[in-house]
Amino acid sequence: MGDQRKKSAKAFKKAEKVIPGGVNSPARAFSAVEMDPIFIEKGEGAYLYDIDGNQYLDYVNSWGPMILGYNPPQVIKKLKEQLKKGTSFGAPTEIETEIAELIVDFYPAVDKVRMVNSGTEATMSAIRLARGYTGRDKIIKLEGCYHGHGDSLLVDAGSGAATLGIKGSPGVTENTAKETIVVPYNNQQAVEKVFTEYGSEIAGIILEPVTGNMGVIGPEPGYIDFLRKITRKNGALLIFDEVMTGFRLARGGAQELYKIEPDLSTFGKIIGGGMPVGAYAGRREIMDYVAPVGPVYQAGTLSGNPMAMQAGLATLKELKNKKIYTQLEAKAEKLEKGFKKNIEELEFPAYFNRVGSMFTLFFTAKKVKNYQDVKSCDQKLFAAYFRNMIEAGIYLPPSQFEANFISLALSEENLDQTIAANYQVLKKLK
Ligand code: PLP
Repeated sequence: MGDQRKKSAKAFKKAEKVIPGGVNSPARAFSAVEMDPIFIEKGEGAYLYDIDGNQYLDYVNSWGPMILGYNPPQVIKKLKEQLKKGTSFGAPTEIETEIAELIVDFYPAVDKVRMVNSGTEATMSAIRLARGYTGRDKIIKLEGCYHGHGDSLLVDAGSGAATLGIKGSPGVTENTAKETIVVPYNNQQAVEKVFTEYGSEIAGIILEPVTGNMGVIGPEPGYIDFLRKITRKNGALLIFDEVMTGFRLARGGAQELYKIEPDLSTFGKIIGGGMPVGAYAGRREIMDYVAPVGPVYQAGTLSGNPMAMQAGLATLKELKNKKIYTQLEAKAEKLEKGFKKNIEELEFPAYFNRVGSMFTLFFTAKKVKNYQDVKSCDQKLFAAYFRNMIEAGIYLPPSQFEANFISLALSEENLDQTIAANYQVLKKLK
């Protein structure tokens, strides 16, 4: 294995000398799957190409944003036009209003939007706003959810932190961490207990309404409804982190799917169309608590950057067409049926879970409902599966604690190829 990736191996050695771990985000390291990361040359439609010239069918979508596939012509056209006009002005442009209007249109819970540069900034700012607005300090976070690397949220976090087994991070002070109360996902009693003990001190609950960062897990019936009711009753804010699920599970995100209006929402990934973006958004009276109108301060040199706004706007304009979500659902359903048939036929101890165009194949025989369930999956088996899928030309996220994404660029043949590879690999690993 690996001989066909000589250039990648060399590039990684070079990178390791000047970049910690050779990667600019730990989730990109392949340490959990005992491989060197693959260095990418380019993407096109449903495919990624590495610097050795190997082609892979992609289920990472740059960790979510590339819902239209790589290099969608509408997005590239807008980026080229903007490039000629200038890449950053540090002054308002009309494009920012246009993209905010689109988000407001699709999300009934949102009256106003503030653009930032990453999902991390979005959740960090939303937490600050929740604290400032309510005058309370404590935040409830759900175990295994990942909301970026802001101090308050780097406690029992999913994604790369879960992959590396990092529970908290040195450098996050004890005082900061103690204001974040962590409860298991899908457990109503645990939330009730926290409100009984700290009710008037809780600024809000933040969650991935459908998790992607501990693999894909959906809320049990009634769970999200319960969170809406208990936050309202206690004067706390409900914050949906839709950085991953926004414009992905439905045009109106998880809040459309579960018909719940959170007080604040955070976005990223898709709304930047592959450029660095984040946003936090919500009801007028809360958002008007942000500077320059209100006292909660947050700013950014490159916030609302015109290149990022053009890529995001062009992507969201495509997603205006609701048919796109029907098409994505059909693709995802086909893959689900294929994978489930393979699992059944081979009597393989695996659990396939999907919500919309996000899915995870968990290496366990039982249903996965929370972080502890994911931790008990067979990580070694996952690693072997991953390596074999790479050999079959299928590029997956290199950790059991991640979501796979289906893009619009995947054809019927691509899906058939993936299902066939899944069958062969599971058969080999049995
Ligand atoms: N929130 C969620 C749900 C995410 O999935 C991520 C990133 O994966 C973030 C926040 C952080 O976003 P970023 O990596 O852009 O800082």
